Parts: sequence; C-alpha cells; structure tokens
Amino acid sequence: MQSIRILDTKTINKIAAGEVVEGPKSVVKELVENAIDAGATAVTVEIKEGGISYIRIMDNGCGIPKEQVKTAFLRHATSKMSEIEDLEHIFTLGFRGEALASIAGVAQVEMLTKTRDEETGTSIEISGGEIKNIQDTSCTEGTTITVKNLFYNVPARRKFLKKPATESGFVSDLMNKLALGHPEVSFRFINNDTTMLHTAGNGDLKASVFYVYGKEAANSMVPLEYKKGEYALSGLIGKPELSRGNRNYENLFINGRFIKNKVVATAVEDAYKTRLLIGKFPIFVLNFQMNPSQVDVNVHPAKLEVRFKNDDEIYEFFHDAVSKTLDQLVLIPQVGWDK
Ligand code: ADP
Ligand code: MG
Repeated sequence: MQSIRILDTKTINKIAAGEVVEGPKSVVKELVENAIDAGATAVTVEIKEGGISYIRIMDNGCGIPKEQVKTAFLRHATSKMSEIEDLEHIFTLGFRGEALASIAGVAQVEMLTKTRDEETGTSIEISGGEIKNIQDTSCTEGTTITVKNLFYNVPARRKFLKKPATESGFVSDLMNKLALGHPEVSFRFINNDTTMLHTAGNGDLKASVFYVYGKEAANSMVPLEYKKGEYALSGLIGKPELSRGNRNYENLFINGRFIKNKVVATAVEDAYKTRLLIGKFPIFVLNFQMNPSQVDVNVHPAKLEVRFKNDDEIYEFFHDAVSKTLDQLVLIPQVGWDK
C-alpha cells in the first residue's frame, strides 16, 4: 500500500461530482433548481444528443453579481445557507453549493449572467474545473449556462451514459415533474431542436397537468386542499377510475422539491385502497408545505428523499387528506350537485 495523502482538488472534485452528477438529467435538475431559486419565471432547457454533448439552461432570474461569478463555481460555495441551523428554515431547492463546481469539473461549461443593477454582464468559461476565460459581456438579465461534452474528462463515467434517446427520456420525465411542481414557472423544453414541452407558467396546476398528462387526466382530477397545524397540502388527485399500473404518476413535492417517500405513498395508496383494483396506483400531484425544521432534506445526494421527524403524524395527515377528498367524490352524485 502507498502512504496516506490528501487528494488534489481536481481529483476531489471529479470524485465528488460522481455524487451529484449522474448524467444529463442530474445536470438539468441542478441547473433548473438554481434558476427557480433565483426567482426565474421563465426557464428554457435545450438538449442535444440526450444532453451528453449539449445542455443549455436559460433563465430570467436574478443573475450572479460580477464579483461573485468565480466563487459560485467553487465547491461548497452557496448564497443559500451559512450554518447548519439554516437548514431548519430553508426554502430554497439548493443549499450544498456543490452543483456548479461538480458540473464544471466534469464538462465544458460556459455561463452568461447579469443582475438587474449591472450595466454589463459576465461571461465565464470553465472546463474540467479550470477557468479558461472570464470577461464582461452584454447580455440580458438572468443566467444562461451551457454544458458541453459531459464527462469528457472522466471516460469511466462517460462509458456508463445510456443511449441519447434514453438519456433524453430521463430529462423529459424530469421536465414533466418540474412543470408539475412549479406551475408558476413557464418551462420550455427543446430536444434536438424540437419543442417537447411549453407550459404557461400562470400558476394553474390543472393547466400543467394538461400539458404533461393530457386532457383526459386533467379532466379526471379533483382539487385537494387540506390543512392541519403547520401542515398544508394542496394539489390534484385522480378519480379512482384514472388509476395507472405503476407509481410513476405519484407526484409529491415538499416545499417545492420533488420527493420520493414511502410513508406518504403508503398513506395515499391506503386511502385509495378499496377504490382501486389490486396492482393499480393513483395519479396525484400534491404539494406539501411544511415547516423545514420538521424534515431532514439532507439525507440523499440528489435530495430525492427526506426523513420526517414524525412519520405517524405524516401518515395520518395524508391519509385523512386523501380519504376526505375521495369521500366527497362519492357524495356529489348522491346529493345531485353534479348533473
Ligand atoms: P447551491 O444551489 O447549493 O447554492 P450551486 O453550486 O448550485 O449551489 O450554486 C452556487 C451559487 O451560485 C448559488 O448559491 C447561487 O448564489 C448562484 N447561482 C447558481 N445558479 C444561479 C442562477 N441560475 N441564477 C442566479 N444565481 C445562481
Ligand atoms: Mg444549486
């Protein structure tokens, strides 16, 4: 064995990038989340060859001030928290300050950014973690980031990327989820010069469901609003006849972040239970607003999972919310409200 020593920064960054950047989908996820955190109301995502050769994300958010552009690309550099206690009240999607550093470590990145107050914007080029160029430039307010040739310098990872059609499918699924989770943002998704998704961004969740799942689904979903203590749930749930053969249509967002959670899935499915055939799953798009101190969001590299302080309370809350909404559905024809 060799003697123990600390790895150099470039190697550390490449290894760490493996946690955050699995493929084009995770790059798009991190960058769109940054755009949302920056207050963007319109986000355009363009990919080519499944995002392997080209990803471009354009937002109209707050931009990065000139003197902070280089810092944004450093590992653990973030404007979203300064100490661990901040996680107790965090509402941004990002907080670890790893995405830009990771992505720029394993691809060729170009960013144009400008804040409202600045007269000129900044353009920066970084490849494999090295700044190649940084200069003033004229551009509109917001941020455009282009990511080329993902894993060009990490052949071991590049080998594991799937075919472009498969990778673009992953990105497309992600864009659908982002659109469902953020009806207040207008998303445009362009794959190989073809627009695949374009949402209005007017805050109407039913409209987002229409874009993503189509007319039939939009028409067969009913609103759910439920509040108890510090928990608030809102969204749309499918009438039982709209069920699907898998869980892909179960969309849970916690404080705006897409989350996979067993407790919630079980609670909702149990509430549907007698109404669905065995092997069928509900469609739902639910946004759960809760106090960030009641949930640990820092348990998964991609922040896809959370740990609740009180699972039983969460189960009961979701079960009640969905049961009550479904019970009302049965009531409607009985009292003759609905033709
Ligand atoms: P995190 O999102 O966890 O803070 P990132 O590495 O993704 O870490 O981004 C680092 C910082 O760069 C952010 O905290 C933010 O201040 C800034 N930033 C990144 N993307 C954008 C963007 N699209 N618009 C404005 N600021 C951005
Ligand atoms: Mg981020």
